[in-house]
Amino acid sequence: MIDFQHPIATQNLINWFQVNNRKFPWRENFSPYSVTVSEFMLQQTRAEAVVPYFLQWLNVFPDWNSLAIAPETKVLSLWQGLGYYNRAKSLHNLAKIIVSNFSNCLPSEKDQLIQLPGIGQYTAAAIRVFAFNLPDVPLDANLLRIFARILNFQQSINPSSAKKILYNYGLASIPNITSPRIWFSALMDLGSLICLPQNPICSACPLSVICQAQTPSRLPVKPKRKQIITILEHRAIYFNKQHIFLQKSDGPRWNGLWILPTLEPTPSDTPVATHRYSITRFHVNMNIYLRPTHNFPPPKFLSPIPYSLLSNIPLPSPHRKSLEICKNFVLSQSLQ
Ligand code: SF4
Repeated sequence: MIDFQHPIATQNLINWFQVNNRKFPWRENFSPYSVTVSEFMLQQTRAEAVVPYFLQWLNVFPDWNSLAIAPETKVLSLWQGLGYYNRAKSLHNLAKIIVSNFSNCLPSEKDQLIQLPGIGQYTAAAIRVFAFNLPDVPLDANLLRIFARILNFQQSINPSSAKKILYNYGLASIPNITSPRIWFSALMDLGSLICLPQNPICSACPLSVICQAQTPSRLPVKPKRKQIITILEHRAIYFNKQHIFLQKSDGPRWNGLWILPTLEPTPSDTPVATHRYSITRFHVNMNIYLRPTHNFPPPKFLSPIPYSLLSNIPLPSPHRKSLEICKNFVLSQSLQ
């Protein structure tokens, strides 16, 4: 085992972090609520993209209580653009539980945290480190990469046994001279700025004195990527002069959000536009068809939404984007 408590490496990293730390609003307020919101938003989303959403969220929902009593529509509306809406719903449920069962105080024990909605091993560790400053290891992609490289770890990092080795190494790495919060913030920034997935800048790395990687760009060893699958879907915009007709989704991905209904096109149908977007390993080509209601009566499961309310209701990004793409077509035909 390489000695991560190497005093020069430790001091190098702390000195480096003092100069190079990234400024994020969630690093200005370490309340459990604020840290939890940031960790939910940061799952699957880049930190820079999260900043405006985080600031707006804290403005509208400054604490557990204000979030707990908010209607779900408002919660989902504020989450629009971040995707993966189950995170918003879990955060909403979490707030209700924290208010009703924990007197507004998030627990710090891992066993308790992982019983709560939306909190897995990683988020529990991140909350313990960043909110409560307790020793734990938020083993994200940055930390996995850094630890695998320092140890020249040649096994796949996917099995839980490998993660356990790297987790234990991370736990042993926390030095006495600084707090877990600062230590892991420094490592995460090192992963984002220096120990990059491709072409790490080893010549500028404060941990080069202990790093054993021979060919760092090949580490960590990862399982093969899953194949990308392309999907074609057809969706309709039903509209008249006053309304767009939308479906309230009860599907697993967009449950509770308003979506464009699917459609079986006839051979004579021509899409007015095609919107391309990606979800996980799926590339979706969404063909969009216009359905003015004077020619195409809307199905009963659709609800008329006044144009003036469209910006206030939660729509998944691909569907909102499709409406924006087709706005001029809809406007020109609704005036006829
Ligand atoms: S020396 Fe290079 S590979 Fe090793 S931790 Fe630093 S940047 Fe990463």
